[in-house]
Amino acid sequence: MTLEKTKEEQYVPIVCPICGVGCNTELVISNGKPIKVVVKGRNPDLNGKFICIKGLIVADILNHKDRLKTPLYKESEDFKKISWEEAIKLAAERLYEIINLYGPNSIGILASGKILNEEAFLAQKFARTVIKTHNIDICARLCHSPSEIALRMQFGYGAVSACFDDFTEAEAIILIGANTRFTHPGVWNKLRKTKKILIVADIFEALSMADIKLRPNPGTDLVWINGLSKIIIDRDLYNHEFIEERAIGFEGFKKSLSIYNEDFVEKTTNISTDQLNSIANLITKKKTIFIWGMGLTQHANGTDAVLSIGNLALLTGNIGKRGTGIVPLRGQNNVQGASDMGCSPFILPGGYDTTDKGILTHFEGYWNTSLPKEPGLSATEMIHKILDGKIKALYIIGENPVLSEPQSAFVKWMFQNLELLIVQDIFLTETAKYAHIIFPAAALGEKCGTVTNAHRRIQYTEKAIDPHKFAKPDWQILQDLANSMDQKWDYKNTEEIWNEIRTIVPIFKGATYSRLKNSNGLFWPIHNENDEGSRRLYMDRFSFKDGRGRFYPVKPPFAYTKITSDFPYMLVTHRLYEQFNTGEMTLRSKITSKDVKNGFVALNESDTNLLHLTDGSFIRINSPYGSVVSPIKVIKGMKVPKGFVFAPIHFFKFINFNELTSTYPLDPLARMPSLKKIPVNIEKI
Ligand code: SF4
Repeated sequence: MTLEKTKEEQYVPIVCPICGVGCNTELVISNGKPIKVVVKGRNPDLNGKFICIKGLIVADILNHKDRLKTPLYKESEDFKKISWEEAIKLAAERLYEIINLYGPNSIGILASGKILNEEAFLAQKFARTVIKTHNIDICARLCHSPSEIALRMQFGYGAVSACFDDFTEAEAIILIGANTRFTHPGVWNKLRKTKKILIVADIFEALSMADIKLRPNPGTDLVWINGLSKIIIDRDLYNHEFIEERAIGFEGFKKSLSIYNEDFVEKTTNISTDQLNSIANLITKKKTIFIWGMGLTQHANGTDAVLSIGNLALLTGNIGKRGTGIVPLRGQNNVQGASDMGCSPFILPGGYDTTDKGILTHFEGYWNTSLPKEPGLSATEMIHKILDGKIKALYIIGENPVLSEPQSAFVKWMFQNLELLIVQDIFLTETAKYAHIIFPAAALGEKCGTVTNAHRRIQYTEKAIDPHKFAKPDWQILQDLANSMDQKWDYKNTEEIWNEIRTIVPIFKGATYSRLKNSNGLFWPIHNENDEGSRRLYMDRFSFKDGRGRFYPVKPPFAYTKITSDFPYMLVTHRLYEQFNTGEMTLRSKITSKDVKNGFVALNESDTNLLHLTDGSFIRINSPYGSVVSPIKVIKGMKVPKGFVFAPIHFFKFINFNELTSTYPLDPLARMPSLKKIPVNIEKI
């Protein structure tokens, strides 16, 4: 990969640091300063000349006046500047004190879906070999942890099976709970061009483009999906040959479906048997891809919902062939990569289970140390364990749990109870305000390394400029801190870290830096340097000893979040095209914050009339757990069903809808809280 140079400007090839599509763009540097982002089409296989509005903000972020410039230390209520040496020494001493007093499992680390693969790898290595705990997690806990767990159980890898080319080769596409036009514009750009039969199950905007529109009651996807499987089996439309050759568990699965009778499915989901029959006719004859987003996963039964899709893919033979497959739309630019690198309490780098003794021995041998044997805690559990006195310190790298975790007021209260909070970030986030020590981190564009997009494509992203002021790349900060805690880490650059990853984890072995720099990315698994990589998974066998995919019986949801007379409206969270996650970046850019700066909710017109509300009226929204005040906004084209409140998640600083949510119940496997919807009532102010 080379830098193209004109007289005044350099075009530096970077990977977009926002969403999981991982578009290839160029950061334009003039006189040593980033001035804008362009897209020259160097990767026709991925985004070509496409870029969405969020991809344009990189220069704004790098230059922003709010960037953290030096390490900070909290004295009384104020932050004081300190040197790197002082900050690292202080953090190391405090971590040692806490380990000595309460043990290593009293410390938790939250890494990020935005840092490089190499940095995510070091974050989990720091947790496991320096602190000696599996208490390490990332934001995937609140988005696609159910997808990772379910796909690993059914097919072997916790990742997408298909690739972008399959969108073109498919004959039908089922999109569930994924408003891709807003959340993953690069994917939407591909989908809309394919002109395939589009079946959409959603309540948001994506529905308008569908050939078959399903409007399920939120949180009931697994019921209609299993109802569809039952219809396919009852009508003998299923793929006998595929199941015979490539799956196990069919008979048990078939028996488990008896509860999903037509009456139960229609009443629960609002989807008619006629609609399901039409879809059954279609997907049993046509090559079909299943794509889903957080509308499916952000529930306390998210893992079961994803298992239901996997069952349907096996039943219809729509996996392991061109033009078919399963596609969880991962959110952040490197959330797939950070998961692959083992930033999970349950998973080591390469997707290995932390309870597998043979695998622990493998890692212990490479790292020449013993690894913790006790299970780790998920992010949500770590925060709750502060109340129990079990967690005393958190080290948070590029995450913003004060805004993103459920029960925000509780999270803030808990953070005030920590003995030590270290935050490493590019801005003074709402979370960083509670920190005792802050490390200023370099942003993408100020460091080089690899990231992995939602399609398992490992890509190299170039460094364009030096880190802002005294900021450092996350991998260097982690190395400094580890070495202050008696380690002898000696990585000179990210390539050395990547080579360690390639040595330990066979599925990345063939993706050398030189190959990555001279390609448009490589798809894992990629076992050696002659291997072209795996654009598609499971073409011959699933990733188990017997090579067979697994059917899993799925029970109906154990917890429906229903409206009642006291809480008669259903608040559903969603995303806007211009904004991303907690808005720490997109709300700071003039490009993406021009039109909407503050939070709002949207209601159905008849509900606003009933409550005598108009555009700009303020309402108090009360859930069983908390309350917020928000203005009403009437948005042209946004069709809100009667009885619903649509709430965009990005404006947490101003209106934090997570104040309304609860951490109970949690998905028993993925530990996902029920974030997507919450029953509320409304008072006019
Ligand atoms: Fe960046 Fe995603 Fe937009 Fe592509 S689609 S430019 S990766 S935010």
